[in-house]
Amino acid sequence: MADSSPEIPAAFNGSGYTAKQAAQGIADISAALAQFPQILAAVLRQVQVQTRQHLCAPCLIARIGWEATYGQQLKAAIGAAGAAFGLAEGDPRAGQLDPAPHLPENLRPGQPQGLPPLTAAVTTVGGTEVCSEHIPGRPGSQKLLIATGALSPSALAGLG
Ligand SMILES: [Zn+2]
Repeated sequence: MADSSPEIPAAFNGSGYTAKQAAQGIADISAALAQFPQILAAVLRQVQVQTRQHLCAPCLIARIGWEATYGQQLKAAIGAAGAAFGLAEGDPRAGQLDPAPHLPENLRPGQPQGLPPLTAAVTTVGGTEVCSEHIPGRPGSQKLLIATGALSPSALAGLG
């Protein structure tokens, strides 16, 4: 009398799965796991993750020069911004507030002597990171269609 039941794959019948097959299976899984970091890295490379944006070098240089001249006024404005939000004097969170409204009129952004914007770099030209406004040879009136923005005052806190 022939057994007419359909053949059950060895892995599922609980009997035909040898120790050698099990060992091979574990080796296969180990090999796959060993590749996991590379696979994860390959996936992450396809995702636009930007943890820290670089600043435009000419903008940064202008800002450092401005702060060297008007550092006291900026410090006072940051303190005033903190006070306006009820923060105690010296509270580091004041550095995350916008000091611009608390600067003297002539030092506010947009004024000839005003606080220069810190703009994120959009590209590198000759080893220098630049924003869309500082790309050398950029046609004068042509605006590049790249979204950029002045950084929050919190970014300034790192400038010391
Ligand atoms: Zn710039």
